Amino acid sequence: MDLNNYDDLLNKAYDKIPENVKQSSRFEIPKVEVRYEGKNTYITNFNKILNTLNRDKKHFIGIFLKTAGTMGEIRGNQLFLKSRYKSHVLDRLIREYAKEYVLCDICSKPDTNIVKEGKKEYLKCTACGARTEIKE
Ligand SMILES: [Zn+2]
Repeated sequence: MDLNNYDDLLNKAYDKIPENVKQSSRFEIPKVEVRYEGKNTYITNFNKILNTLNRDKKHFIGIFLKTAGTMGEIRGNQLFLKSRYKSHVLDRLIREYAKEYVLCDICSKPDTNIVKEGKKEYLKCTACGARTEIKE
C-alpha cells in the first residue's frame, strides 16, 4: 500500500465533510406543555424551551410576558402566567421571540449571541458572521 496515496485519500475525504456538520441538528423549539390552575397557566416544560432558545432567562421572560400581555414568574421549574392561554398561542409567541432574538436573519441558524452597543442591541451570528440590529 502506498502510504502517500493513503494520506491523500484521507485529506480528500476530510475535505468533503461540510464545515457545519456538527451543528446540523435542526433547531426545533419544544411545544409548550401547559397545566391550568383556575384562571392561570403554567408552562411545565419551560426549562426545556429555555435550553433550546439558549437565551438569558430574564431576557426571555421579560419579552415573553410583554408580548403575552400578562404578568408571570418562575415557580420552581415552571413558568406561571396570570391568565389562561391556549398552548398554540404560547407556541406562537415563543416562535416570534426565536425569530427576533435567536435565529440569524441571514442564515436562519440559532448560533447567535445578543450583543449590546450603546443603547442598541444586535444579534451576532457565529455561523455566518452577520450582525443585525434587534428592533424593539
Ligand atoms: Zn447567520
